[in-house]
Amino acid sequence: MERSTIVRVHEGLHARPATRFVKLAKGFESEVELVKDGKAVSAKSSVKLMLLAVKENQEVTVRANGADAIEAVEALIGYLENPRAGLDDESEAGGGGSEAAAPAPEVSLPVAAPADGTPKLQGVAASEGVAIGPAFAHFPAEIEGPGRRLQADEIYGEVERFRAAVAQVQARMDRTLAEDNLSAGDRGIVAALRDIAADDSLSGEVERLISEGDDAVSAVIGAASTIAADFSAVDDHYLNARADDVHAVGRQICLVLLGQDEVSLETIPQGAILIADDIGAWDLARAPLKRIGGVVCGHGGATSHIAIIARSHGIPAVLGLGDKVNQLRTAKEVALDGNAGHVIVDPDETTRSDFTRRVEAATQERAGLKIFKGVTPTRADGTVIEVAANIGSLEEIEAAQEAGAMGVGLFRTELLFMRHMHLPSEDMQAETYSALAKAFAPHPVIVRTLDIGGDKPIAGIEFPDEENPFLGWRGIRMCLDRPDIFKKQLRALLRAAVHGNIKVMLPMVSEIAEVTHTRALVDECAAELKAEGVEHASFDLGVMIETPAAVLIAPALAKEVAFFSIGTNDLTQYIMAADRLNPTVAKLNDVTNPAVMSAIELTAKAGVAAGIMVGMCGEAAGRPDLIPAFIGMGLTELSMSPASIQRAKKTIAAMAAER
Ligand code: PEP
Ligand code: MG
Repeated sequence: MERSTIVRVHEGLHARPATRFVKLAKGFESEVELVKDGKAVSAKSSVKLMLLAVKENQEVTVRANGADAIEAVEALIGYLENPRAGLDDESEAGGGGSEAAAPAPEVSLPVAAPADGTPKLQGVAASEGVAIGPAFAHFPAEIEGPGRRLQADEIYGEVERFRAAVAQVQARMDRTLAEDNLSAGDRGIVAALRDIAADDSLSGEVERLISEGDDAVSAVIGAASTIAADFSAVDDHYLNARADDVHAVGRQICLVLLGQDEVSLETIPQGAILIADDIGAWDLARAPLKRIGGVVCGHGGATSHIAIIARSHGIPAVLGLGDKVNQLRTAKEVALDGNAGHVIVDPDETTRSDFTRRVEAATQERAGLKIFKGVTPTRADGTVIEVAANIGSLEEIEAAQEAGAMGVGLFRTELLFMRHMHLPSEDMQAETYSALAKAFAPHPVIVRTLDIGGDKPIAGIEFPDEENPFLGWRGIRMCLDRPDIFKKQLRALLRAAVHGNIKVMLPMVSEIAEVTHTRALVDECAAELKAEGVEHASFDLGVMIETPAAVLIAPALAKEVAFFSIGTNDLTQYIMAADRLNPTVAKLNDVTNPAVMSAIELTAKAGVAAGIMVGMCGEAAGRPDLIPAFIGMGLTELSMSPASIQRAKKTIAAMAAER
């Protein structure tokens, strides 16, 4: 019994849809296969299905053989033809975009160590705050098999030993999945690993190697490498990343076979500083983040996953130490300054008491700032200064509201695109932006259109190899070249505008034509929605000022848009020609440099003269030492990470009191 169809599952049979397809197939007794381009694989193996790389709109055949073959074919074809199926998976995992569980990539720029004579290691300041605590080194050793050939009479026992190890790993993953405190994103990661552990492709290959005389550990390493290589060879970003998952699962099975425990993060003591060369998805998903006092890593930068997670949990972090991290392998105690990017190994008595004092002062400051949560700061002339939040996912709404955010000054939409295995649909985006608008209404929510380039590739958009991706095809440039992607986002924003005070801003603008082209697309989208009878409303369109070109044409730009929002992170790197992620040029990457401050002032003057709102959403917006200058220039909106909001309100209130 067989039937062919066109696959309507959004973006094809990637991990979650493949898992659902397999679950459905396993519910039938019959042998079931999926055939594409003459290649047939078992529909009961998610690894094999994923490797078949079935894409949306491709033709496939479902073939079944057995007592319930008719029912099996009907059910599986039904799944493939239901275009909602892939989206359902998505909402299961994240709920309308909430899969983007981590916060926006706030970039804390590294600054040089003060010359006070203390020996310090300099890394990238990735999550603000200071910490001191016992060192917890996490450097898992490479696993090697004993390399012993088995005798024929040992093979049966070795296969049994392997099966028991797999069962143990699966049970451990099931326990993790049963924990209620696991976030949706983390749950998705663990569920995908569990699928691989349970998959026949891995066990089949391991058992084949054992039957040829390999010991179980060597067989697992060999089989995992083969399957990982298959995933690496597929022309698809998302599937390439599954190679790491296969290695992670293989490692867990080997550890059980060797009777070894992973240097588990579960045992990290309260307040300890986690030191690692790198931290993988599996470790991250299980880490007891509440107990971690600080993080120090050889790998990673200010926008890496570990940085994002550290910031969302308020954990100070210094990343990108490179080989210097090896100096911490035997450390007993570590002090770190996540604002400056310093790490101090085994601090002396003076440093220890200095850090202890700073940690206590930070705790006390946090407690004292709470009274500013509900304050509406005003300028001496009574103008309200909006102190808003920079966020990147719905999960961060609560933290922003808790801090007293007067709306959202920057909603970074990149995570919505990056956290999925395919581009988010218009419906899903509309749901996310609507939820955001409703949560903050009547305050404004400024959504930034997709700001992504070749340095952060995402599944579904082919980026060219570029010598200088920060000067390349990114932000508004890419969006205008890909109206198929951009229009979905604009339509979703028009739909969401019905539910609150949505404003939209364009990133990386460098010429007026980018605004006029976008406005034409917005009009086109509005006309389409009207013709389709879909409810929608108009929104204010603004631009980020983050390129020198935008500063220089600010007076003309101001006539075309409803507001400016100064992106000091990029503006500083482009004005100073100093890469914001490169610690070697960190000294130049300084917003207080007169060149950058004068660019900000020029922008403010142009905006004020045209009577439009001028705000700021770069990191500098939250700096109490600079806020008085920005307000003096005429800025009336400052948007920052929720952690900085109360301090900023206090600063503005103090300015008014001084007059
Ligand atoms: C900026 O460049 O200042 C900004 C806010 O955008 P991002 O940090 O996301 O590039
Ligand atoms: Mg920017």
